[in-house]
Amino acid sequence: MSRYIGAVCRLCRRAGEKLYFKGDRCYTEKCAIERRKYPPGQHGQGRGKLSDYGVQLMQKQKVRKPYGLAERQFRKYFHEAERRKGVTGEVLLQLLECRLDNIVSRMGFSGSKRQARQLITHGHFLVNGRPVNIPSYIVKAGDVVEVKESDREINAIKESLEKVVHRGLPSWLDMDFANFKGKVLQIPSREEIQIPFEVQEQLIVELYSR
Ligand code: SF4
Repeated sequence: MSRYIGAVCRLCRRAGEKLYFKGDRCYTEKCAIERRKYPPGQHGQGRGKLSDYGVQLMQKQKVRKPYGLAERQFRKYFHEAERRKGVTGEVLLQLLECRLDNIVSRMGFSGSKRQARQLITHGHFLVNGRPVNIPSYIVKAGDVVEVKESDREINAIKESLEKVVHRGLPSWLDMDFANFKGKVLQIPSREEIQIPFEVQEQLIVELYSR
């Protein structure tokens, strides 16, 4: 599976806004967008306005890359969203939100989705009491995600949880911090999906419908 492992700040500079890949650093002056708010590359500063296609493509990249997905995987989610009932763009975002790596990150067990993927593949989590080591596992309403009892001393997990206590949780999740456990109360509505930058998912639907 191919996944973008290059300099993630370049993706933000290409999009022209913060996509928050680097956790705390993104909120500091060290953020590359704060220092160089123009596209990367030798001719970055000379680039003009995007075409309609370019805008649609940018919307897709803005969503796809933060979720850490390759193009083929992302397109599979799109086709699955098309197949399901509901507004395709919204269903697409719901599917992405319900990936286990995203849920682990939203619950605060990890500082980023990348770290969540690593923790999951190393087998530190249970879903409904059963071990799951697949980051793309789709979590459903009512599911309980928890850290294995033997792994609750892992520093990365403990430090991330301390931060989320202060940051707060999405309303569709419920946490039992003392027991390293969280429950998905419901599938989030579009309004409940907190993406820290503007997303026009309809443009992604238009892109794939061309
Ligand atoms: Fe880098 Fe800033 Fe983007 Fe964070 S928000 S990944 S620091 S450019």
